[in-house]
Amino acid sequence: MKLNKHTLYSDDLLNILPEGVLILNTEGEVLLLNQQARMELQTKVLDINPFKSCHIDSLLKLLYNKEDILPSIMDKLRQGECRYPLPDRTYLQEKVNYTQFPIKGQFETLKEKGEIKVIVFFFRNITAELTQEYILNTALQRTKIYPWYYDISKGEFTLDYRYFKHLGIPAGVNNSLSMEEYINMIHPDDREALADAFVVQLSGVETYEKPVPFRLHRGDGTWEWFERQSTYIANVSGQPYRLVGICMSIQEYKDIEETLIAARKKAEESDKLKMAFLANMSHEIRTPLNAIVGFSDVIGNSYNELSKEEIEDFIRLISINSEHLTRLIDDILDLSKIESNTIDFSFSDNSLISLFKDIEKEQIMRNISEIEIKAILPDNDIRIVTDARRLKQVICNLINNACKFTKKGFIHFGYTASKEAVSLFVEDTGIGIPFEYQEQIFERFYKINSFKQGTGLGLSICKTIIDHLNGKITVTSELGKGSCFTITLPLNKENNP
Ligand code: ADP
Repeated sequence: MKLNKHTLYSDDLLNILPEGVLILNTEGEVLLLNQQARMELQTKVLDINPFKSCHIDSLLKLLYNKEDILPSIMDKLRQGECRYPLPDRTYLQEKVNYTQFPIKGQFETLKEKGEIKVIVFFFRNITAELTQEYILNTALQRTKIYPWYYDISKGEFTLDYRYFKHLGIPAGVNNSLSMEEYINMIHPDDREALADAFVVQLSGVETYEKPVPFRLHRGDGTWEWFERQSTYIANVSGQPYRLVGICMSIQEYKDIEETLIAARKKAEESDKLKMAFLANMSHEIRTPLNAIVGFSDVIGNSYNELSKEEIEDFIRLISINSEHLTRLIDDILDLSKIESNTIDFSFSDNSLISLFKDIEKEQIMRNISEIEIKAILPDNDIRIVTDARRLKQVICNLINNACKFTKKGFIHFGYTASKEAVSLFVEDTGIGIPFEYQEQIFERFYKINSFKQGTGLGLSICKTIIDHLNGKITVTSELGKGSCFTITLPLNKENNP
């Protein structure tokens, strides 16, 4: 079939199109290819005369799922289908170098009196588009940046589908949300700043490049921090008709910021406590030392004038203060070992009953007050692989603390066991610890009452030791009623069949 090129189309017009265009007859003979098509199909190499017919099969294949769908498309068109848009992921393979590239395209039939006159096939090589899309998507996915646009006439936000997925909320129709729906997701405190940015943008005077931080309500009920930037597309008179922008999740930075602020606060606090500790140290050392030197001098200088009871009393006071000084120095040595990470542990198999009985004997021997100090032990012994010396140090420290803060009642200590773990406890009926301090007391140098005797080191050393023994130390306490410190240690099943 011969076509009159001046009546059907204009050669020049087709050649300026950015898309490849092929005009075919129903047999599939190519009546015309525009310049773009000739370039994509490399027909120059074939030396095809644009007006000399050749069959479309000799120029290209249309691959979809690795199959050539061109013959079936031609059949469908011949059978009466007017239009055939190519499915996504269709590839064109030209027949000169057999190069394949992804295309978007369509077949259309032009009819006259119900008869197909010509078939028009136009296509676009989308390699460059896909490249841009892949690069953009890769960048967006790595950075948690979500593009959006706002259609002013429709009052509708269209958001990246990943945004909905990220927030864990159902996507609106076509990934869109109305202005009201979007506002409802924004934290009430952040709405004003966003509205201001929005108004500036709608005025079309300037692009609002300053990032606006705000919180969005997530599907799980929590708030997530984002930052938003936008610009606009305007009509010729400069009136914006679409706002475009990005939202970037800055939650990770906020979390890091919060952690850093908390860490700085803690470091400042710890610095303050350390200063207080150093200031307190001379007093802590001097008090028992003065007592030891003072009472020793009295005994030395006036031995003959003192009664037997007085001498015994002074010796007892020297002994108590020596013990206190030793404990203080031990704590400082332990602290330096912890700081230099040289605190050593020696694990062996131990009986808990023997450990607690030993502690009880020592405590009863040195008990000077009226309070009952007693081990409450179950009938069943428990064997545990641990550093018995260190564990004893912790329990004695807890008992000493209990003695310091208990004026009446009792101090009980012992253990209870379950299948997986054993719980060691030291319970007193002392002054108790207010709830708000129950975590802080395990921090270095922390004392609830800075005027009370002590360095604030004991419990932090206990915690470090228990951490090394793979256990946990906790406290429950009621003000005015007493405290109970509990150490939970894992149980070794082989030792306790
Ligand atoms: P310190 O050497 O000052 O006793 P610790 O680290 O052993 O240091 O204890 C820290 C603080 O915890 C104490 O100063 C005290 O305020 C509180 N505390 C510890 N044990 C008890 C207890 N059994 N009853 C009441 N308060 C306690």
